[in-house]
Amino acid sequence: MIRLTEIKLPLNHAPEDITTAITTKIKISAEQMESFVMFKRGYDARNKRNIQLIYTLDITLTDSDLTNDLLVQFESDNHVKATPDTSYKYVGAAPEYLTERPVVIGFGPCGLLAALTLAQMGFKPIIIERGNEVRQRTKDTFGFWRQRKLNTESNVQFGEGGAGTFSDGKLYSQVKDPNHYGRKVMTEFVKAGAPEEILFVSKPHIGTYKLVTMVEKMRAEIIALGGEVRFATRVDDLHITDSKVTGVTLNTGEILKTNHVVLAVGHSARDTFQMIHDKGVYIEAKPFSIGFRIEHKQSTIDQARFGDNAGNEILGAADYKLVHHCKNGRSVYSFCMCPGGTVVAAASEEGRVVTNGMSQYSRNERNANSAIVVGIDPERDYPNHPLAGIELQRQLETLAFELGGKDYSAPAQTIGDFLKGKPDSELGDVKPSYTPGITLTDLSKALPDFAVDAIREAIPAFNKKIKGFSSDDGLLTGVETRTSSPISIKRNKEFQSINTEGLFPAGEGAGYAGGILSAGIDGIKVAEAVAKSMLNLE
Ligand code: FAD
Repeated sequence: MIRLTEIKLPLNHAPEDITTAITTKIKISAEQMESFVMFKRGYDARNKRNIQLIYTLDITLTDSDLTNDLLVQFESDNHVKATPDTSYKYVGAAPEYLTERPVVIGFGPCGLLAALTLAQMGFKPIIIERGNEVRQRTKDTFGFWRQRKLNTESNVQFGEGGAGTFSDGKLYSQVKDPNHYGRKVMTEFVKAGAPEEILFVSKPHIGTYKLVTMVEKMRAEIIALGGEVRFATRVDDLHITDSKVTGVTLNTGEILKTNHVVLAVGHSARDTFQMIHDKGVYIEAKPFSIGFRIEHKQSTIDQARFGDNAGNEILGAADYKLVHHCKNGRSVYSFCMCPGGTVVAAASEEGRVVTNGMSQYSRNERNANSAIVVGIDPERDYPNHPLAGIELQRQLETLAFELGGKDYSAPAQTIGDFLKGKPDSELGDVKPSYTPGITLTDLSKALPDFAVDAIREAIPAFNKKIKGFSSDDGLLTGVETRTSSPISIKRNKEFQSINTEGLFPAGEGAGYAGGILSAGIDGIKVAEAVAKSMLNLE
């Protein structure tokens, strides 16, 4: 097959225009083309009056000699190449006699893809997940949002499916992926019931409810292949002898002996981070970000981004990605933008408030939301201890709890009042979507001064890119503290901890992913590393 990239057509083009674009580009007749498959479809909306769709297309010709001739003829054209083989190839298979079973801690996207890939290779992994299975977890999470009853072991952060289960389900990432692991993640998701379009749209998303059923199906496959998943079970201790992992202790007291442990615990497993630090596993503090969730009406964002094309079915609800470098040397950026979604209560510890965002597949809620956050780093902001970033997160989340009125309401303020430094606010046109509820207050008390100054400078700057962004009515809700892990568990080229053999730190919590797709990709890489180690392969 021949892959054509950067084929640009106007937003409202006719279906047959694609064929014309192909035949014109590679100078063939329509009869010489057997079929084409859309590999990717993105768009360029920089000019609202002339929005372009951008296609990557895989073409099958009727004559294979012609395929080869054209590839030679267009050798110097980077947009005409042979279609790469993106199918997944396993690194090995577990022999029948193998008795050791790898243990995977955490059943988020990283643990899930690690466990699934290991199971598909015949390794029969044992998965330990502290939270509940996804249906019970959904009840636990909604119980918190509706009745303020926090289950510290089963919530937005913890439970089957991991942190991204109640999310927008955005499935894109900027990680380099030369081995096409992302394709395997997407293919597994489609097999489990995700819409097929995630394989070709440039910014795929699946929304919360679809994720719930997909996770169940993937779990069923792991079990059918001989794996085992234990919910509501936490790993409380790691056994290390002569710098090598020998097993884990569960909160039930049971000990599982193994020399291969995948640690895919996400960024909120603060007790587990403390435990492995106490055990001597090498950890470093790493940069993360702090800030607020911002809400606007989705129609404001659609109008600003798409003008008269707002509401177009192909474009869907508009998103944005913004960065501003501030005078005080800090950078402010938007993160985890959820078009047509809601702000969610994402706490996992009592007496603390933290926000995040989610949406359904339809993305048809009234408001757009995203995190507006300021980058912070260990050297300047939380020096001297690998776990100091966690302490800072806790302080800010406790402060948010207090500012919100100590009942899990989140502190909030309109953008107008926040920018003017006017504490006694009233809500404007943008109604808060956060449940259990908000308390209007002075949000400048919720973050360090440098962060407040930076956000106050950035919001008007963002208004130059998205008209209406700094409108008085918009709403800020606090606080965002869990944009990424505050630590990094260093690993070597065999994907094992640099000082603890057999421990495979993985996914977002260990600092190797930021989002569902990259966590899944890391899970596959780590599964391969575990398989190679168990099979004594290079
Ligand atoms: P996690 O998903 O955090 O999974 C870790 C798992 O380990 C958890 O289930 C936890 O219960 C378990 N665990 C922790 N400690 C232990 C222990 N000691 N014993 C047993 N189990 C343990 N990303 C996107 O790409 N797109 C989005 O739209 C998106 N939206 C999000 C919305 C929300 C509300 C949240 C919270 C996150 C969102 N993210 C999104 C981020 C994304 O969810 C994470 O990047 C991703 O889930 C990280 O995957 P992970 O497997 O590394 O860790």
